[in-house]
Amino acid sequence: MKAAILHDYKQPLRIEDVPRPECAADEVLIQVEACGVCHSDLHLAEGGWPQLLSAVTVKKPLVMGHEAVGRVVEKGRDVAQFALGDRVGVAWIYWSCGQCRLCKEGLENLCPRQIITGVTVDGGYAEFVKAKASHVTRVPETLSAQEAAPLFCAGLTVYRSSKKAGIRPGQRVAVFGIGGLGHLAVQVAKSFQAEVIGIDVTEEKLALARSLGADHALNAAAGDFAAQLKKVGGPHVALVTSAAKAAYDLAFSSLRPDGTLAVIGLPAEDLTFPPIVMVARETRIVASSVGTRADLRELLDLAAAGKVRCHSEARPLAQINQVFDDMRHGRILGRVVVRA
Ligand code: NAD
Ligand code: ZN
Ligand code: ZN
Repeated sequence: MKAAILHDYKQPLRIEDVPRPECAADEVLIQVEACGVCHSDLHLAEGGWPQLLSAVTVKKPLVMGHEAVGRVVEKGRDVAQFALGDRVGVAWIYWSCGQCRLCKEGLENLCPRQIITGVTVDGGYAEFVKAKASHVTRVPETLSAQEAAPLFCAGLTVYRSSKKAGIRPGQRVAVFGIGGLGHLAVQVAKSFQAEVIGIDVTEEKLALARSLGADHALNAAAGDFAAQLKKVGGPHVALVTSAAKAAYDLAFSSLRPDGTLAVIGLPAEDLTFPPIVMVARETRIVASSVGTRADLRELLDLAAAGKVRCHSEARPLAQINQVFDDMRHGRILGRVVVRA
């Protein structure tokens, strides 16, 4: 089968013919119809996360891609819950143990034994991906593969972070970064009945935010950004989905007292916030890591009800390096999904 392979950090992925995976008794083989391209893949391909790289063993050579949706075409003998032809998706969490304290507390996304799709095992930048039947999630038939794939990381992550940030109806929520995650965050925050402020550095992204229901759209690069945001009012919650440290600095300083900064985007540098300001304003900082299968089911229901819709473009898998380049330069509107 065709797959895009990472051999070394900072090198382009190579499109190669590799053996099709064979599924074990508890696994399914999925023919990938669409796999979303997440900025995390770009960070990983660039070797940009030293802490992650020292904590987990990245498979090499590696097929990345952790937003894969397709049809079940083979299944192991112990798999009863799926039939051939079912449409399912594979998320970041390929497997979690189900036995540790965190798993038992419903925090499988923090399981120390977890296996990560497209990081520690092969993912979806390929014609086929195999996955644990216990950890794949059924896609509602009303959603196409292209619509559903980006929900498996981008959508899931912003859904969980919106819950963790405790967004309440009527609150002002600023979404910093209207990219793959952020354009879905605008819609998720609207579904939580918030007043939403979309913030990015290009007019095209701001127009997208408006078209998706943002009540305000502000350009963080504009000289009068702070004054404009003041006019709207300091947000109760800032969901920072950009990987720019500058976005975090702006988000922190713009929050109203008793505000919550949600850490989602992953800059390479450490973030620092002055404690005197945090204390004076009783600022909360919460972080969230992708999401659980339960979060994903809730989000897919929201999408099936038409409340969250991914703006996406499908491109051939062979163009993956151009897609990365477009992402590096902020040229993607919404999400790109690739297919072999
Ligand atoms: P993306 O490239 O699609 O979107 C990033 C957006 O940020 C772009 O629209 C860009 O124009 C905008 N931006 C750049 N500089 C900005 C600034 N100064 N102010 C405001 N906006 C700015 O990326 P994505 O796929 O949405 O991923 C975003 C980040 O989220 C990445 O760092 C990724 O690794 C991370 N991520 C985290 C989790 C998690 O579990 N916490 C999960 C998935 C992705
Ligand atoms: Zn991702
Ligand atoms: Zn566990």
